[in-house]
Amino acid sequence: MSATPDYLPQYGQFIGGQWVEGGSGKTIDLKNPATGEVLSRISAGNASDAKRAVDAAARAFPAWAASAPAQRQDIIYEIVRRLKARIGHYALMDTLNNGKPISEALNFDMPMAIEQFAIFSGAPWQLHGESLHSPGSIGIVHREPLGVVVQIIPWNVPMIMLASKIAPALAAGNTIVLKPSEIVCLSVLEFAREMADLLPPGVLNVVTGYGPDLGEALVTDSRVRKVGFTGSRPTARTLMRLAATNIIPQTMELGGKSANIVCEDADLDAAAEGAAMSTVLNKGEVCLAGSRLFVHERVRDEFLDKLTRILAAIRIGDPLSPDTQLGAQASSMQMEKVLGYLDAGPKEGARILCGGERARVPGLPQGLFVQPTLFVDVKNDMKIAQEEIFGPVTSVLTWKDEEEVVRMSNDSIYGLGGGLWTRDLSRAHRMACALETGTVWINRYYNFVGGMPIGGYKQSGFGREFAHEVLQHYTLTKSVVINMQEGPLGLFAAARPTSA
Ligand code: NAD
Repeated sequence: MSATPDYLPQYGQFIGGQWVEGGSGKTIDLKNPATGEVLSRISAGNASDAKRAVDAAARAFPAWAASAPAQRQDIIYEIVRRLKARIGHYALMDTLNNGKPISEALNFDMPMAIEQFAIFSGAPWQLHGESLHSPGSIGIVHREPLGVVVQIIPWNVPMIMLASKIAPALAAGNTIVLKPSEIVCLSVLEFAREMADLLPPGVLNVVTGYGPDLGEALVTDSRVRKVGFTGSRPTARTLMRLAATNIIPQTMELGGKSANIVCEDADLDAAAEGAAMSTVLNKGEVCLAGSRLFVHERVRDEFLDKLTRILAAIRIGDPLSPDTQLGAQASSMQMEKVLGYLDAGPKEGARILCGGERARVPGLPQGLFVQPTLFVDVKNDMKIAQEEIFGPVTSVLTWKDEEEVVRMSNDSIYGLGGGLWTRDLSRAHRMACALETGTVWINRYYNFVGGMPIGGYKQSGFGREFAHEVLQHYTLTKSVVINMQEGPLGLFAAARPTSA
């Protein structure tokens, strides 16, 4: 890991391969949520920056689209090499700016981000069409890039979001305008800085600023051919309305309130570990968190005893310390939102079994830390069981029979992740099939397998990422039909050859 953080005190907009000053002249502070310190300043972009970025991406598109697969592969694989070589640097950027424990940034975020580039480095070779034959004709289906794509990402796992968005889009020959979050984007800007010499100018443009100031200009520009978004439902609605202007496709990766179901025959130690990990990983700021924990009533007490013991021993502290297991919430707005739910739960009739308050860490008085918290006596219609809290907070519900727990699990506007703990194989498959959600982890939570699709059911969004099928979202097909027979069909008498 780098000993001294190496980043700039201020960043401009990365457009056309150059760092340029933002149109508004205004800046936004990037902060360290563990200390309150201002780390750097970013440009508060406006519509003029959006337009310049789309101009650059549109100029770069024809050559990038026509580039050889080998060239795109070389570039994407060089990104893998560079990220591996400076993994500590990028992990440090995310720890400083997002507040996530350094061990997570190093062992979870960065390997997953690097894996995305590795997976899609081979994709340029696989983007071929197909041919079909019919009597007298051959059909060729070409697969083509879309053009300029706009990608908008959130603040919770910036490097994973960057990688899962840009790797397939680049592989497919699109050019990109990427807008990271204005709260956490140090690692993304450092990525643009390091890769500037690698990608042809304009292929990847990074514009920063508040969403509404950039969003409309980006998404309604008639040269933009797609929006790939990860973030909240309200922003998704706005973007979908804007995308309707020029009728462009979208993929939406939104929030979750995933069910984590513990059956009476489960390995309770493994299940308690999984539930604890789901509560504290990235401070609970994970869209896939199993934040509704359904425990079979027969094992409830034993299971909760195990889980509370683990949570009580979680090391909350300086995200830079290698021992820390729970870091700082990413922003004061996010911490206040979480504390609001800690207040609302008891008012709705739930009880706090452990945690429940802001955590104070010696030496970090400004730190935005929250204790890992379990709510019990929760009903599925309470706000704490239905709304995404995005903090280290898990709501525990109990159940008696399988049909009931599947019904309760599916009684949510969301459907993104989920967990299931049982030793009964047929039950595991039966329940996994019945759950309305994009991912189900059986007997290990957050058990990511590289190359598998991730995406939502219901209001968790649509479109899949992280897997080969994302390439469908970044390409179009064109059908070309070649007639192999000579002469006219002879449909009209005047066209028939006259006999000699
Ligand atoms: P958000 O919607 O507030 O912001 C996401 C991005 O959209 C940011 O870059 C923001 O600046 C931008 N934005 C906001 N308003 C905009 C507008 N009018 N036009 C254009 N851009 C706009 O979400 P957030 O708070 O940053 O992220 C948290 C949310 O993201 C949670 O709901 C979480 O579940 C979700 N998330 C989902 C996944 C997934 O894969 N499904 C992954 C991570 C996070």
